[in-house]
Amino acid sequence: MLVETISPGNSKTEDVHRREICTAGRWLHERHFAPATDGNISVRLNGSAILTTPTCLSKGMMTAEDLVVTDMQGRPLCGTRSPSTELAMHLSIYRVRPDIFAICHAHPPIATGYAAAGLALDKPILSEAVLSLRCIPLAPYGTPGTTEVCDSIEPLLRQYEAILLANHGVVTYGPDLLTAFFRMETVEHVALVSLVTQLLGKQSILSAADVEKLLAARSRHLGRPHESEAAPAANSRDNEIAGAKSGRPR
Ligand SMILES: [Zn+2]
Repeated sequence: MLVETISPGNSKTEDVHRREICTAGRWLHERHFAPATDGNISVRLNGSAILTTPTCLSKGMMTAEDLVVTDMQGRPLCGTRSPSTELAMHLSIYRVRPDIFAICHAHPPIATGYAAAGLALDKPILSEAVLSLRCIPLAPYGTPGTTEVCDSIEPLLRQYEAILLANHGVVTYGPDLLTAFFRMETVEHVALVSLVTQLLGKQSILSAADVEKLLAARSRHLGRPHESEAAPAANSRDNEIAGAKSGRPR
């Protein structure tokens, strides 16, 4: 049986992008991250066009012809279907982050459970998660399909690549589709491990010194300024994230 793959990088023909978005959609669906017609995926084709999944279609059943090309204002340029109802959220991410070329939005059940409980995944309990995502903040609730979602994530976009959407789901993004998809898998894995620690009744949180070393390694890998100023609160009971509204239930 042929193994479906998504190759790293974003320098591909539109046909390859179409095929790989369909593959990512099947992977989201198979992992129960996108039941029914939930979820959406997009890729920035160039400076002025976005290739995105259509609305009202299972991400496990898409064909390359089902995808839609829009301009940066969301106006359809190519395709017979309507674009995703969350396209505005995708466009707002592309506008704020010129380094981002692919976005996945889904409802993975455990991470979405945290989002529905009003809990960020921001405690440094897994070294690999700190390296890859630093932490996963929670954006305040916004009505899906409206600019409320764009407004709720906007303060977090520059610092993070994976965000929980309160009472809704998860959005991840990266320099290519494979990275954005992997980040979605990482979010659900972090949520699962966090849940297990809650069930065991004990979380061993990394020390501030250990988090600092991980963030330094992350900054070197990403070629970014050191991020320790806004690091997750190690060994702290403070679970709030700068930019997200406080007052949510714990
Ligand atoms: Zn959604």
